[in-house]
Amino acid sequence: EAKTAGKNGVRIFDTALEMITGEKSELLQDLHSAIERDQLALLYHPQIEISTGRCVGAEALLRWEHPRRGVVSPDIFIPLAEESGLIHEVGQWVLRRVAQDCTRLNLDYIAVNVSIKEFVRSDFIETIKTMVRDGEIDPFRIELEMTESVFIENFERTNEKLQELREMGFRFSIDDFGTGYSSLAYLKNLSIKTLKIDRGFVKDIGINPNDEVLTRTIIDIASHFEMKTVAEGVENETQLAFLKKFGCDLAQGYFFTKPIPLDAFIEWLGRRCESVAASDDADNKPE
Ligand code: C2E
Ligand code: MG
Ligand code: MG
Ligand code: MG
Repeated sequence: EAKTAGKNGVRIFDTALEMITGEKSELLQDLHSAIERDQLALLYHPQIEISTGRCVGAEALLRWEHPRRGVVSPDIFIPLAEESGLIHEVGQWVLRRVAQDCTRLNLDYIAVNVSIKEFVRSDFIETIKTMVRDGEIDPFRIELEMTESVFIENFERTNEKLQELREMGFRFSIDDFGTGYSSLAYLKNLSIKTLKIDRGFVKDIGINPNDEVLTRTIIDIASHFEMKTVAEGVENETQLAFLKKFGCDLAQGYFFTKPIPLDAFIEWLGRRCESVAASDDADNKPE
């Protein structure tokens, strides 16, 4: 049920399903002008190399700063953007902004979420190619995150598209791994570098042995295919220790920080570097 207690009597939604038709079309109308009114913003969420504690990359996460409703979650407006076709404009905005922000970040890569609706469009590759050719984006600094769903509809075509993007320099990760309904055959695709273990499995590490088995199994599958694993939603030391023990490569989650705007992220990175360097020094001191 929708909450009615929002600020100024504005309703706040938990999920897209809660919206009634009138509200949905109102929000959609607002979304049309969100880009030109500069209401979209990116937050960055660090990905930490578990063995060293260093931040090697980050995921860009989109927010809509709605003038009346406040910050609208992507779980609400991405489905709206997908339904209306606006997702293409939104996706391009994200890539351009990430490309600009990249120049201020000394990281291996920034991960960008690509919606399946965006990916399956026939001109997706062409659009990206043009952006790369015009020097708008540097594919070597970008990891495209997609869910397994892209492999359900047209397996062959998807593999071809990934190949083309890989030749341009992009790399890929499978988001929310283990929650889709696709065959695992796509794991043979060499351009997929990373599996992201869904937060749903990570959440109950230390509590539920079933989730622990699933997490370990995903790490095993990935290492067999020479892929890396990123655990999503790491919130505590117990989860981190478990992931380290079983060879997960990277961790992302509130344990390190919540997703933050670029300037705050740059500051956070500075502090992180200092503390990692300090603990390295301490480790190297003779007993
Ligand atoms: P996702 O790609 O799976 O992103 C991970 C989500 O988990 C993010 O939610 C992040 O804030 C949240 N998260 C990460 N660590 C933790 C944790 O330790 N605890 C908890 N409780 N949550 C954690 P967010 O930012 O609300 O994004 C939701 C989804 O919206 C994303 O899921 C992604 O599917 C979509 N999305 C976000 N940005 C974009 C975008 O630029 N384009 C597209 N197409 N989709 C996007
Ligand atoms: Mg993601
Ligand atoms: Mg995810
Ligand atoms: Mg998700």
